[in-house]
Amino acid sequence: MTADNVRFETLAVHAAEPRPARDRSVVFPIYQGTVYEIEPGGGVDYLRYSNTPTQTYVQDKLAALEGAEAAVATASGMAAISTALHSVLATGDRIIVAGNIYGGTHALLAEEARRIGWGVDFVDAYDPATWEAALRPETKAVYVESITNPLIRVGDLVGLAAFAREHGLTSLIDNTFPTPMLFRPHTVGYDLVCHSATKALNGHSDLVAGVVTGSAERIERVRHHLMLFGGSLDPHTAFLLARGLKTLAVRVKAQNENALALARFLEGHNAIAEVHYPGLESHPDHARAVELFAGFGSMLAFRPAGGLEAAERLLKALTIPYSAASLGGVESLVTRPAISSHAKMTAEERAAAGIGDDLIRFSTGIEATEDLVDDFGRALSD
Ligand SMILES: *Cc1c(COP(=O)(O)O)cnc(C)c1O
Repeated sequence: MTADNVRFETLAVHAAEPRPARDRSVVFPIYQGTVYEIEPGGGVDYLRYSNTPTQTYVQDKLAALEGAEAAVATASGMAAISTALHSVLATGDRIIVAGNIYGGTHALLAEEARRIGWGVDFVDAYDPATWEAALRPETKAVYVESITNPLIRVGDLVGLAAFAREHGLTSLIDNTFPTPMLFRPHTVGYDLVCHSATKALNGHSDLVAGVVTGSAERIERVRHHLMLFGGSLDPHTAFLLARGLKTLAVRVKAQNENALALARFLEGHNAIAEVHYPGLESHPDHARAVELFAGFGSMLAFRPAGGLEAAERLLKALTIPYSAASLGGVESLVTRPAISSHAKMTAEERAAAGIGDDLIRFSTGIEATEDLVDDFGRALSD
């Protein structure tokens, strides 16, 4: 079953499910064993090699959802990203990184990369002239995120993939925020797609996992590095992730509806100074998001009119969302990036990136839209 013959909602439930079912069980079992009998002429199946039945099952499901030939599941999103990078970069190679990226990935590329011997050139995701200027003979890859955090921007994703192809570079993209329900980067030419499956793919804030998808050849190289660096996904977590994936479509749909309704409500409220959500016509990347995405996602950010004090008051007054980092779960979460995801940056770096101390980031859950809007209406009038 592929995206060519069924819609995404059907794919999320049925992709990679064996038919007829194994032992007639509608639910794929957890093969907890670490080691398997070797068949004549066969290879070794071992948990760290990511080729045991429950791992293969969830990997096939993830590959189908991203529309990729193959997938390898990892023990976290950072394991997916770091292993994918190791599979394409050797010491002395350089990588072009476009736009703002997730804090952990930024620390890996801005600090750790120097010790590994990778050169990193940070460029503007909107300005191809900066990509051209960064290009050197040692450049081997480009890296971007489909939607950035916390200002929810969408860079020139199609242009960057074409630039990579034109110059023989491997293109990597972190597609965690939109999920393949909204955007499938392989369809616009990306070679390797990484996810933190900890977020919306699992959707229940109760496991850590990651995945890399791509061609069979590229994924074999990632799997080889995963075998050596050891970040494979254990079968029990793989089982839970597959359970989460089956409801991905309905969850993302509900989250999108909540995010759009909240963004519109906040944009029209006189206690709010600005709202960042690509579903709003006022967002600078609205046209690009309409063109590329099947929805605008679960993440929005905004600033109250009264500055930091008003932001702190609002966070205390909201009763439905948890004040917590992370995103993509069934429960709404609210944070100030200045004290969570972007706390490691200096105040000057944050100011330059447009991340004021009063900026609030919201990850919508699947609660009733009216309840979330009412919670904000009440909290803003307190
Ligand atoms: C959370 C996140 C990661 C890291 O994932 P973990 O599962 O926490 O290792 C990477 N990229 C993005 C965009 C994220 O939101």
